[in-house]
Formats: sequence, C-alpha cells, structure tokens
Amino acid sequence: MLAVAACEEPSLEEQPGEVVFEGDFVEFRVTDDAPEYCAGVPEYLDRYTGALYEELRVEPGEGLVSYSLVDPEDVRPEDDLFIAYASERGIVSGAPVLEHELVHAVHRQGYGRQFLLTEGLAELFGGDALLSDRTSTDGSAEELVEHVEEERGIRSYAYGDAGRFVAYLDHRFGRDVLLRLLESTSRGDVSVEQFSSKVEDVIGAPWDDIARGYDDSEVCEQHAYWNASPACAAAEPLTLCEGVENVRHVVALDCAAPDVLGERKDEFTEGEGREVWTYRTVTFEQAGGYAISIGGQWGEESVGYIELKSCRGGCGSFLQRFEVSRYAGFTYDFDIDEPGEYLLKVARPLDAPSVIEFFISGACG
Ligand SMILES: [Zn+2]
Repeated sequence: MLAVAACEEPSLEEQPGEVVFEGDFVEFRVTDDAPEYCAGVPEYLDRYTGALYEELRVEPGEGLVSYSLVDPEDVRPEDDLFIAYASERGIVSGAPVLEHELVHAVHRQGYGRQFLLTEGLAELFGGDALLSDRTSTDGSAEELVEHVEEERGIRSYAYGDAGRFVAYLDHRFGRDVLLRLLESTSRGDVSVEQFSSKVEDVIGAPWDDIARGYDDSEVCEQHAYWNASPACAAAEPLTLCEGVENVRHVVALDCAAPDVLGERKDEFTEGEGREVWTYRTVTFEQAGGYAISIGGQWGEESVGYIELKSCRGGCGSFLQRFEVSRYAGFTYDFDIDEPGEYLLKVARPLDAPSVIEFFISGACG
C-alpha cells in the first residue's frame, strides 16, 4: 500500500496495471485485460477512502492506496472464492468497486490473515459489494467465534455474521471501544478463548453478557447493516425542495458519466446482481410521511431500482427498495422515522440503459 512498506518488503512484486488516476488518497491502476469500469469509479474510491480515514480515525500514510483492477481470473490462482485481496502493496481486485478491501488498506490490518473483527469491520464499512460467501448473518456469538480457525482465522462464510457482530459492538459500545477491540484482537494468533477474554478485558463485561446482548439484538443482512457513511461522503447531495416545489431529478445511468459506478457482476451467480449505479444523498429534516414518484424518459424503456438507506450503519438503517418499471410512473409512500442524511442508490441492470426520473414529495412548503 505504501512506498515505505514496499521498501521493507523488497521481495514483493509491483502492483499490477498502469496508473490511470491519482487522487488525494487512491491511485487507480488498470491492466490490459481488466473488466470494464464506469467513469465514476476512481473518484468514488478516492472519496470513499478519505471518508474511511475519518471513520476509522487513521492518519493517511505518505503514499496513496493503490487499487489495481485486474482480470478476475488472476486474483484467484489458488482459491476459487477470492475476488480481491489487500496487502501492504495495495489492493488487487477483479471487481471495479470493492470497498471491503479499502477498509483493510485504510485500517492496515487483516493482510494475509482473516481476523474476526477485522473482517467484520470490512463488512460493516465495505459497501454492499456482492460477496458469494456472505450467506449467514443470523448466527449466535458463540457460533461466530467457533468459525475462527487457529491457522486461517475466520472462514469467509462467516463474514456476514462477523460484520453484524461488529455493527452491534459499534452501536452498543461506541467507536472508541470498537477500535480498541480491533487493536487488541487483530494482531498475533488469537484462539477462541483468547478472543473472548480480550473482548472482556476491553469492554469490562463478562463475555456471556456481551454474547447474550448480541444474540438478543436485531438480525438483518449485510445489505441492511453496512455503514453507508463513506458512500454518503462520496456522493453528491440532492435538493428536495425549491421553495414549495419538489425538485425533479433525472439520472442518466450512463457508464461514461462521471458519477456512475460499476460494472458490478456477481461472479458466482451469473446473471444476477449485474448492475451499474450511482449514489446521491438526501437529507430529511423532518420525520413523517414522504412519497417517491419514479418514471422513465418519455417513450424510452427504464428499468432498475432506487434504494434508500440511512447514512448510519446497523440493522434498521435500510429503509426501502423501490422498483423502476418500464414506461409507467409509480408513486411509493414511505415513512421517515429518524430525520437525517440518507443514501439514495439509483441502479439499473448491466444490459439495460436507463434514464430514471424521480422526485420526492412531502417535505416542501
Ligand atoms: Zn476481508
């Protein structure tokens, strides 16, 4: 990741690809056989990384985080399930947008070994990129710790659970405690017993109480609990009202547009989850009833969806998904219980160009 670190490890190879973008925090590299990526990706990764430094209270290093986009086949020479990895050199990814690895690169832990809290942190702050293994989020704390193997750390099929556990710790005990926990449990070999006793030491409560509190907490999927603050920081804000008028928004999901992200393909369930998308933020000043009216460009087919999620993390931060149907316009009602900043994701399938128009009513006048 950093020039300094590379000097300490002279046997490491160079990061693959040519540098095509240098931002304040990230350099974006692309190899000749890398997958297609939309024009907004490098800038988004850069802004996201800057926000992660603040969320994780880490000082940026002297060098930039290097993000190399490569042919997915080159990332998984040994393990079919890998789509990306982070090392001291930087990130090598078969996917254009994989925020999970940015968390490792910013936090500078979790290289090579899969620590429970480190992977949980990457799941919490790592966007909702598609990971094939993230199948379970409803396991108990005991089951989660049992997924940790002495040699290999936490198995990837428990990432979803690890993320929800970290989301719970962050919400219940606060960011300071969470970061201290990461510091004390992420270095060196950690057995199941060591893990629970270190958690007890930092939190100052019996493991059984912590585990029971987690087991009684709300269950939700990673798609719901991930902390969207960095994505919110990277997105342009939408204006809800001008005077007493609701503002109409037109989003052209053209991969060449400077704010559009993707492509995202689920490498493991071919055909599903293939999309390009963009993020906006919207601030609801008041709790209450709202409505979103969605339509497409007149005479043109529009398909896709819009999702609304609070910029904070944790179960309950995901509000609603609104489908965009071709030709017709639809109005969906929704309630804002907690005023504040929300992330709006506007997405379309990979193979369906869409111009999506919408306005949100309920806050003007
Ligand atoms: Zn990871």
